[in-house]
Amino acid sequence: MRNPFDTPEREAFRDTVRSFVARDITPFADGWDEAGEIPWELHQKVAELGVFGFGIPEEHGGLGFDDAFMRAIWAVELAACGAGGVGAALGGRTISIDPIVKFASPEIRDRVVPEIVSGRKGSSLGITEPGGGSDVANLKTSARKDGNGWRISGSKTFITGGMTSDYFVIGARTGGEGMGGVSLFFIEWGAEGFTRTALERKMGWWCSDQATLYFDDVFVPADAMIGPENAGFMVVMNNFNLERLGLIAGSLGMAKVCLEDSIAWAKERVTFGKPLIRHQVIRHKIADMSARIDALEAYTNQICWQINEGDMPVAELSKAKFFATKTLEHVASEAMQILGGAGYLRGNRIERIYREVKVMAIGGGSEEIMKDLAVRQMGL
Ligand SMILES: Cc1cc2nc3c(=O)[nH]c(=O)nc-3n(C[C@H](O)[C@H](O)[C@H](O)COP(=O)(O)OP(=O)(O)OC[C@H]3O[C@@H](n4cnc5c(N)ncnc54)[C@H](O)[C@@H]3O)c2cc1C
Repeated sequence: MRNPFDTPEREAFRDTVRSFVARDITPFADGWDEAGEIPWELHQKVAELGVFGFGIPEEHGGLGFDDAFMRAIWAVELAACGAGGVGAALGGRTISIDPIVKFASPEIRDRVVPEIVSGRKGSSLGITEPGGGSDVANLKTSARKDGNGWRISGSKTFITGGMTSDYFVIGARTGGEGMGGVSLFFIEWGAEGFTRTALERKMGWWCSDQATLYFDDVFVPADAMIGPENAGFMVVMNNFNLERLGLIAGSLGMAKVCLEDSIAWAKERVTFGKPLIRHQVIRHKIADMSARIDALEAYTNQICWQINEGDMPVAELSKAKFFATKTLEHVASEAMQILGGAGYLRGNRIERIYREVKVMAIGGGSEEIMKDLAVRQMGL
C-alpha cells in the first residue's frame, strides 16, 4: 500500500534500516535468541543509525529532531528479523530516556543521556511491581525523606534490561494513596541496597533480559528525583504514548512477516496436486490477513501524522494498541496454520512470533487497560 506521508528522507531512512537489519541482525537473530542475549556491540552499532536519539537535543547526543514516522519505520523494519527479543533488548532504554531528558537534574542528564543514546550503557524503566502492573497509581515501592535525600524500599519486576542496565527510572510512593502520591527517581546500579535477579524460562523475548529489582533502604540524593514531587504518575502516563507507538508499529512489522512467510510457503508447498496458494481457503486467509494489516498500517500512519502535528492522540494510541495486538494474534495464528507442521518447529520466524504475540498484548498497557483508557478518553 502506498503511504501518502512518505518523504524522500523517510524512504531513505527505511532503506538504511532495512539493509542494516537484513545484514547485521536477521542472520544472527535465531542464534542470539537461543543463546539468551544479543552482543553488546549491537547496541552501539544500532545507536549509529540514530534510532535512540529521536526527540533528544544534539547536545545530549540525540538527533535534534523527532519524527513519529521514523520511529514507526524502525520498529516495523526491526520486526523483520523475527525475534522480538532483539527489539526489547535494544529498546528498553527508549522507554526510560524521555523522563531523564525532560525532567532529570542537569548533572544527571548531561552525564548519562549521551551514554545511553550512544549505546554504551543501558537504561530501564521500573514501574511494574510483584503486586501488579496495570494499576500504576497504586504502586507500593516507597521513598521516605532522609536528610538531603530519599530512602527507597520495595521491589520491581518484569523490568526489561534490568540485568544489564546501569541506569534506572523507577516509580515510588512519596505521598498519599493513588496517582497523586507517586514520584520518579533515578537510581544507578551499584547503589548500596540495590540487588537484582533474572526472570528466566520466558515464553518469548529470550534474547532480552527481564529482572526483578530489590531496593532495600537504598539512599538517593534529593536531585535523583525526576520531575516534581508527587507528579510521577503523569510523567509515566505521557511516557507510555511513544512506547505504545513502538508496540503498535512492532506488531505491524511482525504481522507483515506473518503474511510474507505465509505467501512464500503457500507458493512452494504442494498439497492435493497443486500449490497451497491455489486452494481457495488459503487464498481467503491471505486476503483476510492482508486487509487487516493494511488497516493497521493506515491507522498507524494517521496516528504518526497526528503526533507530528504536536497533538498526542491518546485515545487513538490506546485503540490502535489493542487493534494491533488483536490483528497480530489473528495473523500469527493463520500463518502458523498455513505453515502446518513446519511452522511448529523452532528456528522459523512464525513459530517465534506466535509465542511473542502475548507480550505485545500485555506489555506497555494490556488490551483490557487500553480499552478502558479508550472509552475514558471518549468521555464515557
Ligand atoms: C516481557 C515483559 C517485559 C516487561 N517489561 C517491563 C518494563 O520494562 N518495565 C515495567 O515497568 N514493566 C514491564 N513489564 C510489565 C508489564 O507492563 C505488565 O505485565 C503489564 O502492565 C500488566 O501488569 P501485570 O502483569 O501485573 O498484570 P495485572 O495488572 O495483574 O493484570 C492481570 C490481567 O488482568 C487484566 N486487568 C487488570 N485490571 C483490570 C481491570 N480493571 N479490568 C479488566 N481487566 C483487568 C490485565 O489486563 C491483565 O490481563 C513487562 C512485562 C513483560 C511480560
